[in-house]
Amino acid sequence: MSVNAAILAYTHRNLAPGPLVLTVPAIMITVCMIRMLIWMRPVSARDLDVTQVENRLKRTVFLGTVLSVAYVCWAMMLDQYGGPYEHGHVAIFVAVTVLGCIFCLTFLPVAAFLVAVSVLGTFVVYCFVQKAEVMLAIALNISLVTAVVLKILRDYYNSFVSLEKSQRELQGERRQAHTLSEENARLAQTDSLTGIPNRRYFFRTLESLLERARPDETFTIGLIDLDRFKPVNDTHGHAHGDRLLQVIGQRMVHLCPDNAIVARLGGDEFGLIVMDGPEGAERVAQQMCRAIQEPVRIGDVLVSVGCSAGLAVYPETATSADLLFDRTDFALYHAKKQKRGQCVRFSEKLEHLIRSEQAIDAALHSADLTQELSLVYQPIVETETLKPLGVECLARWSSPTLGDISPELLIASAERAGRAREITLALFDTALSALQQLPASLRMSFNLSGHNLCDPDTITALLDRLAASDCDTGRLLFEITETSLITDIDTAEVALQRLRETGTRIALDDFGTGYSSLSSLHKLPLDIVKIDRSFAARLGDASGRRLITAIRNLVRSLSLDCVIEGIETEDQLISARLAGFTLAQGYFISRPMSLSCLLEHIEDRSTARWSAA
Ligand code: C2E
Ligand code: CA
Ligand code: CA
Repeated sequence: MSVNAAILAYTHRNLAPGPLVLTVPAIMITVCMIRMLIWMRPVSARDLDVTQVENRLKRTVFLGTVLSVAYVCWAMMLDQYGGPYEHGHVAIFVAVTVLGCIFCLTFLPVAAFLVAVSVLGTFVVYCFVQKAEVMLAIALNISLVTAVVLKILRDYYNSFVSLEKSQRELQGERRQAHTLSEENARLAQTDSLTGIPNRRYFFRTLESLLERARPDETFTIGLIDLDRFKPVNDTHGHAHGDRLLQVIGQRMVHLCPDNAIVARLGGDEFGLIVMDGPEGAERVAQQMCRAIQEPVRIGDVLVSVGCSAGLAVYPETATSADLLFDRTDFALYHAKKQKRGQCVRFSEKLEHLIRSEQAIDAALHSADLTQELSLVYQPIVETETLKPLGVECLARWSSPTLGDISPELLIASAERAGRAREITLALFDTALSALQQLPASLRMSFNLSGHNLCDPDTITALLDRLAASDCDTGRLLFEITETSLITDIDTAEVALQRLRETGTRIALDDFGTGYSSLSSLHKLPLDIVKIDRSFAARLGDASGRRLITAIRNLVRSLSLDCVIEGIETEDQLISARLAGFTLAQGYFISRPMSLSCLLEHIEDRSTARWSAA
């Protein structure tokens, strides 16, 4: 409209008086420009409330009408000057103004209508007053076209409004449907026992986090697994177990900060996602672990469980959900095995461990066990005379690809591959044939893993082999560790009973490192306790000696024999003797050796005592 007005003023520059072709249009154009600038100032609809929006629309209706009438009146004034061309130009100006304005005001029909009526009304009245026939015809012409355009615009506007309305209705319905399905979804993502989010929710959240995560963003996922939950379930019943899980779930939720979620992944395993780096996440996990370990009163019993946690950090540890979870799981597994009751973060060291585990698994897969597996024998002697009482069989795996692998790694890998039984039986066959070659005065200890103990078929196979070998079962001793009893104490106990019924004896190995409480010691069918080698190193200091003597007295009070392991120096041997130990084992007395070496030593009667091979 402003450009049109400027052009109209230009064609009348020499015909009309100065103020009319300069001052008046200048003022009107300035007002329009200011209005336009205000109009174009960015404003978000969200910043305005309904009354503010209404006021703005009213102002547009008012200004639109007033300004367009002002332009038309000005054009009528210019029409006093000039010839037929100039009159025609004025008519075109009016027509263009009206049509342009109402078109731009499509979505504000009131304004469009008012502009059209006031502008055309003014123009028609003017033409009547002027009694200019052609001008009147043009006015009618424009009015007709405007009426049709207005009608079309109104229809268009109405359809737009009804579309809007039906869309809004549809949205309303959808929203309703949405809340229903949201409720269903919520239920599907909630653990029914504890009422906290479930596994599905945990993985959904993890996946959507990974989808949205920026490379510079970091978060940590954690797994918390309860220790000794099964015994609670077994001794107090499932109702108590359920209640315990509920209380623990609530404690965890209570401690869960705003930037974290906690979920029950199943059984006694909980998942954690913390939108924070490892330090922050570790703090949260540790707090939760402490809370879990607080005893819980259920009815009239007080139960308590332990827990271990594993953590992995995005993106430094892994960037995919599967890998991230696997590594958290590995960290947890590591915590449970090596740092029970603690929180372990997946680190490069663990990564290295995985790699080496994978390499070991692969090597075991292609190993020729009859060639690569062997046993070495370490004497157990009387501390006073250094006379050997027996030998302990220790597995050795010499892999052509990886070299010598420690028996712990071998056993762990065999368990992962589901070959624990096969390997134990192969070793046991070797042990039995060695037993037959050794003097009848010597006993033999054979190590059993927790896996072996929990597998009744392994026990049966061991007993079958033992029966077939017709060796004196009284010479045989099975060594078990405390940790092997934790997983499933009932099955383990049955296995121990079965072994003992044949006349073999049972030794509890590595005593003092595990968690079996001293009180449970007398409940187990044991004959011997082997004090872990870490205690031998403490024989040098007074407090260590007091501790070891106390353990020794306790074992004696239970009428069990006691062996101290890991004697590496003469001083330690003397201290062990003074502390009342009658049996010992260790590098100072003898390193583990092959069967032929062992037999040689035995033959060499002149050897006063066992020396390192
Ligand atoms: P363990 O049953 O406690 O076996 C004693 C370990 O201590 C052996 O390590 C032995 O070489 C080592 N040792 C003996 N005297 C000393 C000493 O004075 N100082 C030190 N620092 N160490 C000493 P090895 O042979 O590496 O075996 C490690 C573990 O692997 C064994 O610990 C046992 O738990 C397991 N293991 C070995 N053979 C078998 C097996 O045939 N079956 C099962 N299930 N486990 C086995
Ligand atoms: Ca042992
Ligand atoms: Ca041991």
